[in-house]
Amino acid sequence: MNVLRTVAEFKAWRSSVKGSVGFVPTMGALHRGHEELLQRARAANDVCVLSIFVNPTQFNDPKDFEKYPITWDADVAMAKRNGVDAIFAPVKVDLYPDDYKYRLMEADFSALLDGAHRPGHFDGVLTVVMKLFQTVKPTRAYFGEKDFQQLRLIDGMVRAFFLDLEIVPVPTVREDDGLAMSSRNVRLSPEQRAIAPEIHKAITSAGSAADARTTLEKKGFKVDYVEDLQGRRFVAAFLGEVRLIDNVAL
Ligand code: AMP
Repeated sequence: MNVLRTVAEFKAWRSSVKGSVGFVPTMGALHRGHEELLQRARAANDVCVLSIFVNPTQFNDPKDFEKYPITWDADVAMAKRNGVDAIFAPVKVDLYPDDYKYRLMEADFSALLDGAHRPGHFDGVLTVVMKLFQTVKPTRAYFGEKDFQQLRLIDGMVRAFFLDLEIVPVPTVREDDGLAMSSRNVRLSPEQRAIAPEIHKAITSAGSAADARTTLEKKGFKVDYVEDLQGRRFVAAFLGEVRLIDNVAL
């Protein structure tokens, strides 16, 4: 397995590769949700690429960025176990030679839900994903439905800019108690971890978004939003400093 650290190194490797390329972009701290994306990419393509980059431009909260978990050795082990051919793990200056003077934005759906609560978040996401696509040149790229708004926005970007690749959505992988797997879950205290599954329970069982919000607030969550939109119910809520998101089809 190759570990490539710069855009130039990656492009040199990429030019030697033949066949279809499946790509899984991540911020590392990999869990079974990421593993599902890797397995789909591995199964459907000749070559499988994983990127690991904690993208600073998509963090509106500097504390969240500083505390983002890093588990490099375990991530490499998971990549090897799943037949990844190359890990692209750049550093900020390499991916942002322009110092983020150039950026991509979407002017409609990105203003809702997480976009309304995390100013600039989706500009950072779309910009970094475009940079990754330009470097990796994937045939297919795999994104989780756990970040449903992100998935929709990236799919829209691919169509808006005529990018020659397919976005493959992957259903949310959950713990046995329903909690959506997330790299941030390791930051929950045992007490917080015990009530975290209420997020999924509330959005699947409440009759309305307003009822789900009330239930979560009673359990001690600080709710950013619970909203029904386009046939799905979306939630974002804090337990202490940890912000959790989830969504389900209605
Ligand atoms: P992240 O490293 O959190 O930015 O996520 C990288 C990719 O993994 C994104 O496409 C996420 O939507 C996806 N992902 C994260 N958690 C899950 C999960 N529990 N189930 C499925 N996909 C996930």
